[in-house]
Amino acid sequence: MLYYADAVAKLIEELAKLPGIGPKTAQRLAFHILRGSKEDAYNLAKALVNAKEKVGYCSICCNLTDINPCRICSNVNRDGSLICVVEDPRDVVAFERTKEYKGYYHVLHGAISPIEGIGPEQLKIKELLERIQNQEIKEIIVATNSSIEGEATAMYLAKLIKPLGIKVTRIAQGIPVGGDIEYADEVTLSRAFTGRREM
Ligand SMILES: [Zn+2]
Repeated sequence: MLYYADAVAKLIEELAKLPGIGPKTAQRLAFHILRGSKEDAYNLAKALVNAKEKVGYCSICCNLTDINPCRICSNVNRDGSLICVVEDPRDVVAFERTKEYKGYYHVLHGAISPIEGIGPEQLKIKELLERIQNQEIKEIIVATNSSIEGEATAMYLAKLIKPLGIKVTRIAQGIPVGGDIEYADEVTLSRAFTGRREM
């Protein structure tokens, strides 16, 4: 970093904070931006600030949204008796692609992971419980990943929700063990949904 102008070093440092971006990639991206037009750099900066300022959590499902409630929660034509619980906003996109599921979602923003120090209180579980107490819910479909963390989260949710008299189901294991939902194809996800089992 010593050999770079301060502004360049700072740009590389910030880019390197992004997931999956090592120092080498950060350098390459920084020089790509510097070689490009002023307009491109400005548009990138503007998109970053704009997304950060306009996007927040949906007050109902906790998904990322630029309108509140989000587009899915505002859609009255969906099945209000179903909530599908996922770890990540990208999972909502994956399930929506299947066009199979017509209920609503709840995004936890992670999974329980004692190793990483993530407990239930760091996830949007409190929001889910509040939500199901104020709504007529027939079934909660737990669609967390099939990783150890995803399974632990599913067990935890079932333990909390079943005593409330709500059916809790787990999507079928069509998804490879440890596999992420966001990378599963539509057919696999559709099968996982239809093959869900009561917990
Ligand atoms: Zn929502």
